[in-house]
Amino acid sequence: MAVVQVIPVMIPMLGEEEAQAAADAVRSGWVAQGPRVAQFEKEFAATVGAGHGVAVSSCTTALHLALVLHGVQPGDEVIVPSLSFIATANAVRYVGATPVFADVDLATGNLTVETIDAVRTPRTTAIIAVHQGGVPFDTVGLRKAAEGWGLALVEDAACAAGSTAYGTPAGTGAAVAAWSFHPRKVLTTGEGGMVTVDDAEAAVRLRRLREHGMNVSAADRHKSSQPVLEAYLETAYNYRMTDIQAAVGLVQLGRLAGLVAQRRELAARYHELLAGIDGVVPVRDPAYGTTNYQSFWVLLTPDYRTSRDELLAELAKRGVSARRGIMAAHLEPAYADVTPAPLPVTERITRDSLILPLHHKITEADQNHIVGVLRDLA
Ligand SMILES: *Cc1c(COP(=O)(O)O)cnc(C)c1O
Repeated sequence: MAVVQVIPVMIPMLGEEEAQAAADAVRSGWVAQGPRVAQFEKEFAATVGAGHGVAVSSCTTALHLALVLHGVQPGDEVIVPSLSFIATANAVRYVGATPVFADVDLATGNLTVETIDAVRTPRTTAIIAVHQGGVPFDTVGLRKAAEGWGLALVEDAACAAGSTAYGTPAGTGAAVAAWSFHPRKVLTTGEGGMVTVDDAEAAVRLRRLREHGMNVSAADRHKSSQPVLEAYLETAYNYRMTDIQAAVGLVQLGRLAGLVAQRRELAARYHELLAGIDGVVPVRDPAYGTTNYQSFWVLLTPDYRTSRDELLAELAKRGVSARRGIMAAHLEPAYADVTPAPLPVTERITRDSLILPLHHKITEADQNHIVGVLRDLA
């Protein structure tokens, strides 16, 4: 039997430089949170246009801390898109609050002022808006609306490193944003995440929250020539990133602009190839910004002859590892106890979209092959 070469949906771009940086961190003897984490925080915050970065163990823990920072508690409602990786909704439950699902815009997959307003109640205290698959939400519109309603706006920027809105990096001007460095994202540290904030006091609190509530970090205590007696100011967490991860992250940060430019070129080529196929609508830049194409999804309209799942099966048979589109949390067993308001756009996108392979190793021949399958089944 012929061996089918499978085209993976995503491959992290990891080179000898990352391996060397990780090895250097190990050889230094300092492997827990230390100087490399501090350096990575500084450089990442500068890259995304935020005042301060606080590195943590994942975007999921970053979202948790962002909600703790805002004092979200049991009895509160937090508006989230159902159309997101499930961690967005789960973070709300970690603080004992109730996730309330809002629908999204068909073109961007993102919350809008209107869809948020439709499910807002007097118990709403916060919103988590997601830059879905790297497509920025309308930062200016949502931030202004949230401020007007007196609601905290937590930005789930898990996928958005390298995306822009209104001419600046998507995280610029966010009160609090949560980022992911999982290998499925454009920039990776293995596992890892970051909370960015503009407010210096918020950064101090976040540093404490990720490290057991201590008023002085273990790294600072270690550096001091005097004995330092730490105090534990509140019940908190161990959500630290390691210096091994941060060493990798610093190298990755240097690759970010190039990786995003390459992804956007590949996406432009997908757009050209897909243009002639009826019933296939690929994701694109919104009017106010640019996506890093962390996920290149296509929506199938009723004009397309084949169902999404049949198309996925055919792609798999022909060596293409595509994925179903972004999940909808309210359709999962974990949220079976929630009855949301109707979410017609969310359900349509999750049912009728799929994510095509996009990474640094994709060739023109790969793209021709992938789009060829879509054309054959149109
Ligand atoms: C990947 C992702 C997360 C979770 O990120 P982790 O770093 O794996 O915890 C959260 N939200 C969104 C929108 C994501 O895509």
